[in-house]
Amino acid sequence: MLGEGILKGLAETAKNFAGSFVSEERLTTVEYPEQRLPQIENTRDFPFLVYDGDDAMAGLRCVSCQICEKECPPKCIYITKSADKKPDYVGKAQFYPTRFDIDVSVCMSCQICVEVCPFEAIKMDTEFELSTEDRFGGLILDRHKLAKSNEYYHQIHPTEAAEVDARLAEEKAKVEAKAKAAAEAAAAKAAADAAAKGTADATAKAAESAAKSAEGQA
Ligand code: SF4
Ligand code: SF4
Repeated sequence: MLGEGILKGLAETAKNFAGSFVSEERLTTVEYPEQRLPQIENTRDFPFLVYDGDDAMAGLRCVSCQICEKECPPKCIYITKSADKKPDYVGKAQFYPTRFDIDVSVCMSCQICVEVCPFEAIKMDTEFELSTEDRFGGLILDRHKLAKSNEYYHQIHPTEAAEVDARLAEEKAKVEAKAKAAAEAAAAKAAADAAAKGTADATAKAAESAAKSAEGQA
């Protein structure tokens, strides 16, 4: 029947409108900002930078590789690489960003920067109340504003953050096992060298003593 879909839609709306007076479940809206709906875990808006530990700048995971800057479709990431290096989570010396800005007035929340980051350093935030009267400068977020702790990441995306932690712990364990094996191999080589040197010294001493004794007999 012509218009049947419209009538069905209106009936549903009327049912919810009348039902909302007796059942909260039929309320489809809340009185924002006094009331807020709980965020679902997969919510995403703009990126943030993850840091470990207590010091946001020292603990930034970003190594300034600039892959995200190159891959960002609207080119709204601006990075300047440091001249020196600092240790990363496995203790390896890495560059870090002295400047890391994202212009969120341009960002289209595509998450490509997150997908391409090899260091689990950039993730999508759920914070959406970013409006400001300063339409240009006020929407360029620098590394200080972008830096958020791993604990915060766990709060907003618990499943994903737990997977990332497990992956990083596995990589760290592999690096530590490799370093331990290398140290053990070096120690074994040093012991073997020392033992070989000891044998050579003993042989030389024995030869010297035999020579002296032969001289005595002559
Ligand atoms: S979410 Fe997309 S548009 Fe926004 S900074 Fe990342 S790559 Fe660029
Ligand atoms: S956020 Fe990731 S991809 Fe972007 S510069 Fe830092 S380490 Fe590289």
